[in-house]
Amino acid sequence: MAAQKSVILYPSLGVGHLNPMVELAKLFLRRGLAVVIAVVDSPDKDSVSADAIARLAAANPDIAFRLLPVPSCGREDYPHAVMRIMDVMRVANPALREFLMGALPDVEALVLDMFCADALDVAAELGIPSYFFFASALSYLAIMLRLPEYYPTVPSSFKDMPETALHFPGVPPIRALDMAATLQDRDSDMAKARLAQCTRMLEARGILVNSFDWLESRALEALRCGLCTPGRSTPPVHCIGPLVLPGNTGGISERHACLEWLDTQPDRSVVFLSFGSLGRFSTAQLREMARGLENSGQRFLWVVRNPPEHQSNSAEPDLGSLLPEDFLERTRERGFVVKNWAPQSEVLRHPSIGGFATHCGWNSALEGIASGVPMICWPLYAEQRMNKVLMVEEMKVGVAMEGYEEELVKAEEVETKVRLVMASDEGEELRQRVMVAKEMAVDALKTGASSDVAFDEFLTDLQKNRT
Ligand code: UDP
Repeated sequence: MAAQKSVILYPSLGVGHLNPMVELAKLFLRRGLAVVIAVVDSPDKDSVSADAIARLAAANPDIAFRLLPVPSCGREDYPHAVMRIMDVMRVANPALREFLMGALPDVEALVLDMFCADALDVAAELGIPSYFFFASALSYLAIMLRLPEYYPTVPSSFKDMPETALHFPGVPPIRALDMAATLQDRDSDMAKARLAQCTRMLEARGILVNSFDWLESRALEALRCGLCTPGRSTPPVHCIGPLVLPGNTGGISERHACLEWLDTQPDRSVVFLSFGSLGRFSTAQLREMARGLENSGQRFLWVVRNPPEHQSNSAEPDLGSLLPEDFLERTRERGFVVKNWAPQSEVLRHPSIGGFATHCGWNSALEGIASGVPMICWPLYAEQRMNKVLMVEEMKVGVAMEGYEEELVKAEEVETKVRLVMASDEGEELRQRVMVAKEMAVDALKTGASSDVAFDEFLTDLQKNRT
């Protein structure tokens, strides 16, 4: 009997891209299909460490992980992290090619992360069908596919018209200022590289998206009407999400101390503050946040990291010197500070959590929705400002923090928004809406529902390649 062919999943750097790929792998496994996650092991920043991959592999014994060691891309002065990630993935192409050559003829298809468009060349050379997995909002995909046509219709770069509302089909109006940082200057190498990558996504046989039809129905409709570059058709788009980390990522013996603390708090009484895998604040901003939390009178669970100017990013923060004097003592009864990293998906599903201050990374947004927790949107980098617009204006599951465009978000604003979400009628309305979204998220994944059907449609296309 011939060996079962595997689908190769190829994430780019960072846990925000790796985690949803792991959840995607589980979809394949549930359908009895073999899958391998090929992870780039690069000495450059944002590469997930080999140790972390080993832990992930131990927690997911049914998934095959394959590390691809690659050399450094030899540069550090990137204007945007995305540019570094794209370069690292380009440098990784020979390692990917070698791995695929060794795995042929047992490779069924390649599923590429959105930042790995250059791997299309490797797939084409080896005759492997390729698909993309878009780990951000469907609305963002709709914008990106439209952009090559849209850019020339506006009088200047977005950075020169910050307050202008931009109109894209299927997406609420977005101020130019809220577009992804990488797209602000249309003449920059960065924006050109991103556009070229997105245009290349049209070469794939299909695009899997970590979203679900109900959540972004207008964007889906716009995409189905064909809004990409004239003369080129959009490949089938399959919304197969939400793919989020499960609520229990560790055994009971590995339970994080913050979960034990949450067990002792009343239901829906704690606001959780966590800003993605990379979010950092200046010492001055951390102090404003601390004052705001203290003055809000609400219970809180807060993930704190060293400020960006700190020498070592991964070092444990010295809370005593970063936070206001005696803050930890004064809030001991109702606050818990975690250094660097919390088990976010488990925290969000804990019954004591009543609100979530987030940087609006797409995984965090989906995790907040899947847990039915109203959000305070405080975007920091990448496309998070755009996600904030979706979460506040379109989905209405969050409220925006004001002032992040200026130097500091003031303590008074932190206090106001924490009170709003945790203890006001407006917060209760947000909660009702996000609870509806949560139900719809659960429904979408059921057998015969939209995300399940979308994945089946993708598999049908995959099987066509066999004939
Ligand atoms: N995360 C976590 N603990 C933390 C911070 C982040 O588990 O303290 C996880 C979070 O649950 C999410 C991912 O890291 O799955 C971050 O992805 P997201 O897209 O939200 O943001 P990014 O880090 O890519 O900016």
